[in-house]
Amino acid sequence: MPEIGARFVVHSVLFVAAVGYFANTIYGRLRVLQSVAWTDLFDKIPERINKLVVYGFGQKKFVVDRQDPAPSWMHFFIFWGFVILGLRVVTAFGQGWFGLEFHLPLMGADMLGGPYLLLKDLIEVVVICSVAFALVRWLFIHPKRLYGFEPAEARLAGQSHGEAILILCFIGGIMLTDLFFEAGRFIYAAGDPAVEAERSWVPVASMLSTLIQPIGAENARIVSEIGWWGHNIIIMIFVNLLPLSKHFHIITGLPNVFFSKLEPLGALSKQELETAETFGTSRIDQFTWKQVLDMYTCTECGRCSSNCPATATGKPLAPRQMLLNLRDYLYEHQDEVIEKHAAAANGANGEAAEAPEVGVNVVGADSVVPDDVIWSCNMCRACEDACPVNIEYVDKIADMRRHLVQEEARFPTELTRVFKGLETQSNPWGIGAEKRDDWAADLDIPRIADKPDAEYLYYVGCAGAFDDRNKKTTVSFAKILMKAGVDFAILGKEELCNGDSARRLGNEYLYQTMAQMLIETFDAAGIKNKKVIVNCPHCFNTIKNELPQFGGEYECVHAAELVKELLDEKKIGLKPNGDGYEVVTYHDSCYYGRFNNVYDAPREVIQAATGKEPQEMERHGRTGMCCGAGGGRMWIEEDADKRVNLLRVDQALETGPEKIAMSCPYCMTMINDGIKAKDLEEKVEAVDVMEIIERQLT
Ligand code: SF4
Ligand code: SF4
Repeated sequence: MPEIGARFVVHSVLFVAAVGYFANTIYGRLRVLQSVAWTDLFDKIPERINKLVVYGFGQKKFVVDRQDPAPSWMHFFIFWGFVILGLRVVTAFGQGWFGLEFHLPLMGADMLGGPYLLLKDLIEVVVICSVAFALVRWLFIHPKRLYGFEPAEARLAGQSHGEAILILCFIGGIMLTDLFFEAGRFIYAAGDPAVEAERSWVPVASMLSTLIQPIGAENARIVSEIGWWGHNIIIMIFVNLLPLSKHFHIITGLPNVFFSKLEPLGALSKQELETAETFGTSRIDQFTWKQVLDMYTCTECGRCSSNCPATATGKPLAPRQMLLNLRDYLYEHQDEVIEKHAAAANGANGEAAEAPEVGVNVVGADSVVPDDVIWSCNMCRACEDACPVNIEYVDKIADMRRHLVQEEARFPTELTRVFKGLETQSNPWGIGAEKRDDWAADLDIPRIADKPDAEYLYYVGCAGAFDDRNKKTTVSFAKILMKAGVDFAILGKEELCNGDSARRLGNEYLYQTMAQMLIETFDAAGIKNKKVIVNCPHCFNTIKNELPQFGGEYECVHAAELVKELLDEKKIGLKPNGDGYEVVTYHDSCYYGRFNNVYDAPREVIQAATGKEPQEMERHGRTGMCCGAGGGRMWIEEDADKRVNLLRVDQALETGPEKIAMSCPYCMTMINDGIKAKDLEEKVEAVDVMEIIERQLT
C-alpha cells in the first residue's frame, strides 16, 4: 500500500493537473484530425510496421544522412535517449506513490534493472552532450537550416527561436536532474544494500556522487529531492508543451511514419471525378487527416527546404515555410473545423445544420499559399526524401494545383498552349500528331500493327518523338535495340502521350482522359502480354505507377535496365576503351531516382561503355538535384536569375566533366540549355546514356 504522505499528495495533484491539461489538448488535436477529409490508411499493416521499424525506431534518414551527419546523429541519440529513459520516467512517477525504493517488476538492480540502469546512465550523458551541441548550433552557429532560408522563409527567419532553446534545456534538465537524484541518494542512503546495488551499475551517477560527497548527507538528501521533483515536474511541463510547439513530433513522429505513403511514390492520388463535389484542395479542412498529421509533425528541421531547388534558386517556395503557414492557419481555425464537421454530422442525422466554410481559400495571391509558391514546385521529392518524419509534399501541392486549374482556371499563361497541345495533338508542344514517328523515317522499325507478336513495345514518349535534340537519343536507342536483335516494335503514329505533364500541372481531368485513351490504345495493340520499354523516366513512372489506377497494368522496363541485360548476355559489344569519355558526370533524374529507385543501372552501363565509374556531383543519388523541368515546370517560364538548370549545371561543372550524362529527355533539354547559356558547348556535352552506348557499339 502506498504511504499517503506529502510526496504522495503533492505529486498526485501535479500529476492529475498535468495529465488533465495534456488530455484536453490532445483531444482537441484529435478532433481536428477527425474533422478534416478522410483517407483510409489502415491497410497493409505489416508494411507499415516495417516502415516504423526502419524510419521510426531505426531513424534511417538520420543514419544515412551524408549532408549534415553531426546533427543527425545528435537527433538519433536524443531519440534513443527518450526511448530508453521511458522506463525510468515510469519508475520516477511510481516513486511518487510507492516510495523511492519502488521499481517496476523484474527491474530490481539484481535482475534486469542492473543492465538497464547502466544503459540509462550512459545514454543520459550522451543526450546531455547532444543537447549541448544543439544549443551551440542554436545560440552561436545559427545555421540557415534552423533559422530559415531567405527569401522564402523570411517569416521563419524573423521569429524568436526561444521555444526550441527552452525545450532543449528541458531535455537536458530531465537527464541532469535524474543524475543528481541518484548521486545525492548514494550519499544519504549509503550502506542500504538496494541503493549500493544500484550504484554499482551507474558509473556516471556514482562519479557525480563522489564529486558532491563533501556536501554531507543532509545536503545530499536535499540535492536528491530537488533532482527527483525537478525530473518529474519538468516532464509534466515538457509533455504539456509538446502539442503546443514544434516538438509535437515527439508524440506524432512515429504515427506519421506509420501512416506514410505506401503506394508507389510516383503515383499521385486518383481524383474521383464523377463523384467529387470539389476538385483539389483549397480549404484547410479539405486536407486529409494524414496531411494534417504532417502539419502537426513537422520538426522545423529544414532538411526539406535545404534540398529544395526552388528555395535554392530564390523562388517563393520553401516547403517547410509552406507547411508551417498551413499549420498556423489550421491552429487559428481549428474550432471552426471541428464545428463544421459536427454540424455536417448532425445534418446527416436529420437534425439539419448548415455549417459555414472554414476560414478563407488557403490558395491564392494574398492567402496562406500563394499561386507562385504552388507553381514553383518541381515535384522532385527532394524534400520528402530528406524529411526524417516522412512528411509528404508532392501530393499536397498537386492537390492545390488541381484546385487552381480545375476550379479557378488560374495557371501560368504558358500552360494554355501546353494543355491545348495535349488535348488536340496528344503532345505538350502541340506539334501535329502525324509527325510522331518522323524520327524513325530512315530506320526500318516495325509498327506494332504490322508485328503484333513482337516481344517488346518501345514506347517513345513525346519528348523523344517531337523534340529535335531528344529525337537523336531515340534514334540511338532504337539502333541499340536493332543491333542487339531485340524483338520490338513501336506504335508509330498511333502512340499517344501518357499525360504526365497534365497530371503534375493539376489538370487531372485532362490527365485521366489521356490515361484512359492510352490504355485503350495499348489494349487494342495487345500490349498486355508485352514488355513496354521506355527511355524517359516520366513515361516510366506514369506507365508503371499511375496507369494501374485505371486498370492499365503493364510490365515496364527502362532502357538502362534492358541495355545492361543485353551487355550481360553479350548481345551487344562495346569498344574496349572509353576514348572521349574520360570524365563523364552522371545527373540523376528525379523520376528514375527518388520516385522509382533507379540509380545503379544507368551508372553501370556508363561504366561498361567508358571503362570508368561516372563522376558524382556532391548532390547525387537520393540527394540529387532536379534539373528544373520536373512537376511540369518544363513548360513554365523561369526568371533568368532563378533558373534551376543553371544551378544544376554549375554543380556538374564542379566535377570538371567533358560529358554530362543523363537518362531523361527533360533533363537533356534543361542541362543542354544551361550549357548553352554558359557558352560552354565547345567544352561540355550533354549526352543521354543511350547515346554513349550507341557511339561505343562495336
Ligand atoms: S518537391 Fe522539390 S521543388 Fe517541390 S517543394 Fe519538394 S523539394 Fe521543393
Ligand atoms: S517537413 Fe520534414 S524535413 Fe521539412 S522541416 Fe519539417 S520535419 Fe524537417
